[in-house]
Amino acid sequence: MAAAAAEQLRESFSTGRTRPAAWREAQLRGVLRMATEMETEICDALHADLAKPRTESYVQEISQVKSSCKFALKNLKKWMKPQKVSAGVLTFPSTARIAAEPLGVVLVISAWNYPFLLSVDPVIGAIAAGNAVVLKPSEIAPATSALLADLLPRFVDGSCIKVAEGGVPETTALLEQKWGKIFYTGNGKVGRIVLSLAAKHLTPVVLELGGKCPVVVDSNVDAHVAAKRIAVGKWGCNNGQACVAPDFIITTNSFAPKLVESLEKVLLKFYGKDPLQSPDLSQIVNSNHFNRLSRLMDEEMVSDKVVFGGQRDELQLKISPTLLLDVPLDSAIMKEEIFGPLLPIITVDKIHESFALINSMTKPLAAYLFTKDSTLQDQFENGISAGATIINDTSIHLTNLHLPFGGVGESGMGAYHGTFSFEAFSHKKAILARCFIGETKARYPPYTPEKLKIVKGVLKGNLLAMIQAISGCPRGA
Ligand code: NAD
Repeated sequence: MAAAAAEQLRESFSTGRTRPAAWREAQLRGVLRMATEMETEICDALHADLAKPRTESYVQEISQVKSSCKFALKNLKKWMKPQKVSAGVLTFPSTARIAAEPLGVVLVISAWNYPFLLSVDPVIGAIAAGNAVVLKPSEIAPATSALLADLLPRFVDGSCIKVAEGGVPETTALLEQKWGKIFYTGNGKVGRIVLSLAAKHLTPVVLELGGKCPVVVDSNVDAHVAAKRIAVGKWGCNNGQACVAPDFIITTNSFAPKLVESLEKVLLKFYGKDPLQSPDLSQIVNSNHFNRLSRLMDEEMVSDKVVFGGQRDELQLKISPTLLLDVPLDSAIMKEEIFGPLLPIITVDKIHESFALINSMTKPLAAYLFTKDSTLQDQFENGISAGATIINDTSIHLTNLHLPFGGVGESGMGAYHGTFSFEAFSHKKAILARCFIGETKARYPPYTPEKLKIVKGVLKGNLLAMIQAISGCPRGA
């Protein structure tokens, strides 16, 4: 199946069908129509998979897909236009340009937590860049996977864009094929498998991975505003099951009580006294993840650190927003990516101590800082390596299509969104064209000291040497 699908798409791609702007625009309009006309079906599937609140489904998935389509449609011609560059003195006379070339048939493997967005958004980039695509949605979000398999062929050219459903065996079979690019979203353990299988065919990859996103909160901030922005970026994003969700907070000993109090107030306002019954909180995706999160909470050195929340309901797969204060740094909750509604708060004497702690961990996908101190902002921006740095807010950077979205180090490689999506799925081809005048004899053997002198003169921009190089070397050269 995997081999047959890849072969069929290779044939379609080789006809040149996907290259013209008109084909790309038609597909992008198809995806836009799908996201618009099928909003209810998409929200229903996301609810079936994750009990995702309709507002989050629309704002964080459907509307993002629509924005990406519109952005690509608006910029496509500009992106496709070869970019003229300086011809350079050594190749005079010539013209030089950079052309974006499609990579061929590409594979997109997506994750369960934003199963619509993470599937369709990379596909938009692949289409815009003129590729044929196989999309492999996550089997952990089966309703959205089935919906995409049903919908996409109805809205786009099925001879060039296909959905292949399945789990590990099916994904492994796909990874064994030769692709123009593999775009993978998910955890780093599988990222390593993807990278090693891609190596067999020297296939380039984008890995959109995760990690522990830190939030540093300085004591000079408005605690209530900071608490609201942290809470919406954590529990308002799929109940913490988001790659950019705040994973832990670092604040000062003296400010921690005020911050905890503000977070509690905000959480009560957002989700009420019985958050397990709130329709505005997603469920945990499955019992494996529910048990994993329960283990993190129940670890002996952590279980007495819960200062707010901690309720769970295994039947409903729900865990309430939970704050934990001063958990030991060697606990599992501080070593693994949490990817759920638990939020540990680490305290330090001075806010600058947070830098050493963050830098002792793997590089995060996003690092957040709340402060009014512009010097601290600069130090954070320059002193912490992360996929993105956000000051005085969380998670919203991914809505800005002018910014690249991707990790660094263990949080991933490569980036997408907006122009970066087009670039992720394009090869930048160098094109240099000459005519038959302007022969530079000094270029050709037999080499002589005089020819070398002319070449050196040309390289220095010496006008006489240039004239000599074109018009012919002086006698004896
Ligand atoms: P997942 O379980 O849905 O797996 C992702 C994909 O990998 C799926 O399509 C799955 O079929 C495939 N897969 C799983 N095991 C495989 C194997 N052994 N061989 C080949 N393919 C395999 O999702 P997940 O990994 O649980 O996703 C959560 C992780 O993804 C978190 O670490 C999160 O931070 C990260 N994430 C990153 C981004 C981002 O944009 N950077 C977005 C969402 C999630």
